Order: sequence, then structure tokens, then C-alpha cells
Amino acid sequence: MTTIYNFSAGPAVLPKDVLQQAQQELLDWHGSGMSVMEMSHRGPEFGQIITEAEADLRELMGIPANYKVLFLQGGATSQFAMVPMNLLGDKGVADFVNTGQWSSKAIKEAKKFGTANVVASSEDRNYSYIPDQASWNLSGDAAYLHYTPNETIGGVEYHWVPNVGEVPLVADMSSNILSRPVDVSKFGLIYAGAQKNIGPSGLVIVIVREDLIGKAGKSVPTMFDYKVHAENDSMYNTPATFAVYVAGLIFKWLKAKGGVAGIEQVNIAKADRLYQLIDGSGGFYSNPVALDCRSRMNIPFRLRDEALENPFLKLADAAGLLQLKGHKSVGGMRASIYNAMPREGVEALAGFMSEFQRTHG
Ligand SMILES: *Cc1c(COP(=O)(O)O)cnc(C)c1O
Repeated sequence: MTTIYNFSAGPAVLPKDVLQQAQQELLDWHGSGMSVMEMSHRGPEFGQIITEAEADLRELMGIPANYKVLFLQGGATSQFAMVPMNLLGDKGVADFVNTGQWSSKAIKEAKKFGTANVVASSEDRNYSYIPDQASWNLSGDAAYLHYTPNETIGGVEYHWVPNVGEVPLVADMSSNILSRPVDVSKFGLIYAGAQKNIGPSGLVIVIVREDLIGKAGKSVPTMFDYKVHAENDSMYNTPATFAVYVAGLIFKWLKAKGGVAGIEQVNIAKADRLYQLIDGSGGFYSNPVALDCRSRMNIPFRLRDEALENPFLKLADAAGLLQLKGHKSVGGMRASIYNAMPREGVEALAGFMSEFQRTHG
């Protein structure tokens, strides 16, 4: 049987050990006689699951005590609305950096609730770089600044954290959360859809500084108010219980791997392996992103000869290297190599790419 490696951008690969544990516990969680899917979210069993998940996430990310951790639903996309609904307050203006399709979507949605001031954009060069912070045109009275630390589609990642003084920093970390250490205290709010680096889809995690909670206007629906979720420990309604459970298993897996500092070293090595191969291919393969902001998580690449794309994808598939097709809006290929992608998977892809060049170059 060929070993399969899944390079999907999301929902994405999960650690095999975690899937096996979930399988073992599927019918009977810890002698409870029930599957996690069947448990009351208000019972002691699930209470333990969500409490441990939060504690482990806090430990992994070093989340300070004055931040709430919320386990919500609606994906990162619902946060594009929920953030302005809760944080715009009386100011009515927020700043945005536009570095790709996900930042663009966040901007578009925020405009429904107030003024979205785009302080800088890399659209002029097809979202292939990050505008230098010195060039950002900050509005001065913004309620917050929103940016996307890793653009999943374009493969563009900040290797630095913007410094906007007292203005709360809001980050859509959907595709690089837990892949590297971050100083949470520099942020007002962090959100991340789970299906890239945390666990199953259906869950979005919000980490929010307490002083930013409670500013939602009266017309904001109950389910869209951070205050409601914070006061009810993410159980105002039924949370995505099974997704929270699997996320909790992932957090334990990551702790055993040396936490985010440990996995960061692996992530650097994995990404370097592919970028070096692409850059050393004499133009057979190419990556369009500026060197200083290439993503460690999502690596888009093209073939010099576009006609070879389909054969590449077909042969890759046959070799057990799955879901390498690039996002429909940009074409080409994309290898998503989140925390759960083992080094062997990247090695297998690199070997395949070298061989494909040898036979088709
Ligand atoms: C995938 C992704 C989203 C959308 O997530 P959903 O959970 O599908 O809403 C938003 N932002 C980024 C950076 C993403 O990678």
C-alpha cells in the first residue's frame, strides 16, 4: 500500500496518532460508555474536555490571564463580521492591511459595519509581497488594525508583528496559528478557523483581550456578541463538541512535540526543503512570492511549461501525493505543509518533484 500524504489547504491533514486515538475512543470515551458526540455539553465529561483543551492552548501559546479563549462556530469567515460588530465601537473606523484574498474578504465584510481604511495593499503586484510598515497610511483613530499573518492562497506570511502602538492588533491566524511562537500580549484579538492547523472544521477559536469585550451595539445579535460567549464559557449554545475534543487531542500532540517552538524548527526545515528545490530548479518550478515573506505553511508553485501541470498532478496523485492543485483563482500547484504534515511527506514530494523534472525537463 502506498503511503498517502495530503497537501490540502483545508480541511487539512491531521496527525495519524490523533486520528487513531479518536478512533479508539470513538464509541466509549474514557469509560463513560458514550461517544464524545453523544455527550451533553454541560456534563462533567465534556466539561473536562473543553477545560483541558483551553488550558493546553493557553500553555502552548502563553496566553496571558487577561485574555479570553472562545470556542465558536461559523468559521473564520464569520469573524470577518463579528470583529467589526464587537470592536468598532464609537470610532467606526478600522485599519486594514490588504495582502491577499483573505484580507480582501475581511475588508469587504467590515465595510458593512463602518469605515475600512486600507493602510497598505500589495494588490499592485498580485499580492506577492508585504508592504513595508513604514509605508502604511494609518488613520490615527482606528478602533483596531486587522491583518492576515499568513495568506493561505497566495502563500505570503509575515515573519514580523506590526507595531501600531496602542491600537489593538487583530490577526486572522487561521493558517499559521501554533506553527511558530507569537507574543499574544501584542494582540488585541486573534482568531483562527480550526481546519488548517488546529483540527476539524466547524470550530473557530477567538483569543480576545478582556477590555475589548462588551462594546457590541444593542442591535448585535446575541450569538455575535463576544461578551455572551465569554460570560458563558463558550456554552451559550451548544458548541462544536467533537471538533473541540479533536482540537484538544491536537494540543496534547503538539505539547509532546516540544510545543510551538519545537514544531517551528520542523516547519522551517520542511519549508526550506521545498523552496530550495524550487529555486534550484533552473526555472522549471517557480514561486512568485518575495523572499522575505514566503509562507512556511502554504507553498504555491508553478511549472514553466503550463501544459505539464495536469500530468504533474496526475502522477503526483498516483504516487500518493494528494490535493496539490492550486487555488482555483491562482492556478498552478500549492503544497500546504501544516504542523501535521510529517517531514517524510515533504521529502516524498521533493523526491517526486526532482524526478518529474528529470523526466519532463
Ligand atoms: C481558510 C481561511 C479562512 C476561512 O475560513 P472558514 O473557516 O472557511 O470561514 C479565513 N482566513 C484565512 C487566512 C484562511 O486560511
